Amino acid sequence: MQNPFENAKKQLELAASIAKFDHNFIERLKSPDRYVEVSIPVMMDNGKQKIFTGFRSQHNNSRGPYKGGIRYFEQVNLDEIRALSFWMTFKNAVVNIPFGGSKGGIIFDPKKVSKAELERITRGYVKKIFHLIGPEIDCPGPDVGAGSQIMDWIMDEYSRLSGKKQLAASTGKTLSNGGSNGREEATGFGGGVVLREVIAKNLISSERKTIAIQGFGNVGKFLAEAVRELGWKIVALSDSRGGVYNENGIDLSLAEAHKKKTGALRDLSDSKNISNEELLELDVDVLVPAALENVFTLENAPKVKAKMIFEMANGPTTPEADEVFYKNNKIVIPDILANSGGVATSYFEWYQNMHNEKWTTKEVLEKLEKLMSQVFADVFLVQQKYKTTFRNAAYILALERIQEKM
Ligand code: GLU
Repeated sequence: MQNPFENAKKQLELAASIAKFDHNFIERLKSPDRYVEVSIPVMMDNGKQKIFTGFRSQHNNSRGPYKGGIRYFEQVNLDEIRALSFWMTFKNAVVNIPFGGSKGGIIFDPKKVSKAELERITRGYVKKIFHLIGPEIDCPGPDVGAGSQIMDWIMDEYSRLSGKKQLAASTGKTLSNGGSNGREEATGFGGGVVLREVIAKNLISSERKTIAIQGFGNVGKFLAEAVRELGWKIVALSDSRGGVYNENGIDLSLAEAHKKKTGALRDLSDSKNISNEELLELDVDVLVPAALENVFTLENAPKVKAKMIFEMANGPTTPEADEVFYKNNKIVIPDILANSGGVATSYFEWYQNMHNEKWTTKEVLEKLEKLMSQVFADVFLVQQKYKTTFRNAAYILALERIQEKM
């Protein structure tokens, strides 16, 4: 397994060399400002105590409070969290919200504990990082394995420990606990806006209009809906247990119902089962990784037939795979651009909490749509100026914005 933090630094170096940024400035961005590993003692339902390991990495706060998700995942590790916090700094700068970057995580599978245990793990984690977080210091949000209920507990525990209600202590909360309308669909919706702009610029044109999506969680699902509204056909979908393929297009409501009923996409009626590896090598126009990092490596990148890779996951493409894609004339729309609609809407939530406001779904999505098309236009300008990849362009734009504040 490649070290995602080393990959992130390679991306930075490459982009910095193209636009010739100051060496010392770039060096500073190569390590997070601070990262911690904490032990979280939790009383399990069986009366025995178990120690969980958690992390929080705060990469940079020159543009505003640290901001980033929390990942609940069995294979999470410090290097991954450091890389993810690094990407948040750049993502938040690209999407131009007044936040720096951070990320956290706890090593465990949330599906294997009871709801009461999940709550105790979450509150235990907040106790351990309480002195490091807060609405104007570092604001946790959702990520893989950690949804709205967990964000509610984080806000509640933070409020309890600080002695006053602080809705802006986390984002991605449920609607009744200070969550924002539109936050749930935001990442997928935002990706849909970026894809629409990509198509409008003729960066991808096709009669077939076919897309394959790896990952059918919160991000993949809402992106699939947005893609369908653009008139494109989703021919393949997958989750961690495998994928399904139908060359005439998968019926999304059928897929959602099947996944809800059986817990997996496999064996969907009217589709053929395929593996996750097969999905990545399908002859489609656009390939969307929407799960985890390190999906494309030196080994499988040469086998990718899609014309465009649209990154809804964080860090799915290793630098080596990026080089292969570049040589093979594939366009990569990078994570820090494509999936930034999620954290942008977390900013909207934070803003509403701080100002005691509640915006309607229509208001939120209109603001998000405007922001995402502006973000794409900003990155496109830089890409045209430097005649480089969209990843380099997004990094250069972010670096310019960060440098201004540092
Ligand atoms: N986990 C999301 C991301 O990677 C969003 C985090 C947040 O909203 O704070 O962008």
